[in-house]
Amino acid sequence: MNLCSLRSSSRGNSAVAFTDKTKILVDCGISGKTALCCLADINISPEEIDAIVVTHEHIDHIRGVGVLCRKFNIPVYASEGTWYAMEREIGVIPRECIRVFSDVYFDIGDIEVRPFDIPHDAAEPCGYAFFSQSGSAAVATDMGCIDDGVINALRGCDTVLLEANHDINMLAMGNYPQSLKNRIRGRKGHLANDDAGKVAAELVKHGTKNILLGHLSMENNYPPLAYNTVKNALESENIYMGRDVILDVARRDEISQCRDCLTV
Ligand SMILES: [Zn+2]
Ligand SMILES: [Zn+2]
Repeated sequence: MNLCSLRSSSRGNSAVAFTDKTKILVDCGISGKTALCCLADINISPEEIDAIVVTHEHIDHIRGVGVLCRKFNIPVYASEGTWYAMEREIGVIPRECIRVFSDVYFDIGDIEVRPFDIPHDAAEPCGYAFFSQSGSAAVATDMGCIDDGVINALRGCDTVLLEANHDINMLAMGNYPQSLKNRIRGRKGHLANDDAGKVAAELVKHGTKNILLGHLSMENNYPPLAYNTVKNALESENIYMGRDVILDVARRDEISQCRDCLTV
């Protein structure tokens, strides 16, 4: 089981979970063209994508969903609440591509998909854990706090894309209006670096081997700051990089920095 983040930041998120047989795109909050460039970088063609699973209706998660679905006839999976909330934004989806799930688990190819509730200010948001014979992975971003349901869903996953949205001091000192600061810090907002560190330690203690930090704020975080905050939290629990866990930060480049996209 592989998990690769194409791009991840407060401005656009997309990742792909895949085995040799099955490729699942998790969100497409970047443009369709950028997604194609990013997929080409990892040698995946859009025709190979078996499904797009959507976490929630915010634009940084759905920007390119409709385009990719219509162009390549890719089925789109989402919770009922997310479907109703995102329908107008993503445009017309062919009837045969609509997959509204209510089951706890479902299969796509040789991957078992397990959605789990996340505390976030959207209609019916969820994270996803993926299981195959070759291992497990999960995407867990856009969470104002971590509850037992999230921990249980992530526990034991080999690889986790985990939100480290902001540094609490940068957010407090930054230019955002107070109402937005309150929303981000709220229990249905976004996860701070400090909290990501605590969750990361819990996950490693239960077997997680790879943690990729994602959904970093473009205004209130820096990749080295997120990395070092989580690293310090892990080391305070005697968990060491390289020996016990591989820790990395997902790419959050602006779209204009994607070389191939400049020509389209
Ligand atoms: Zn969101
Ligand atoms: Zn988001």
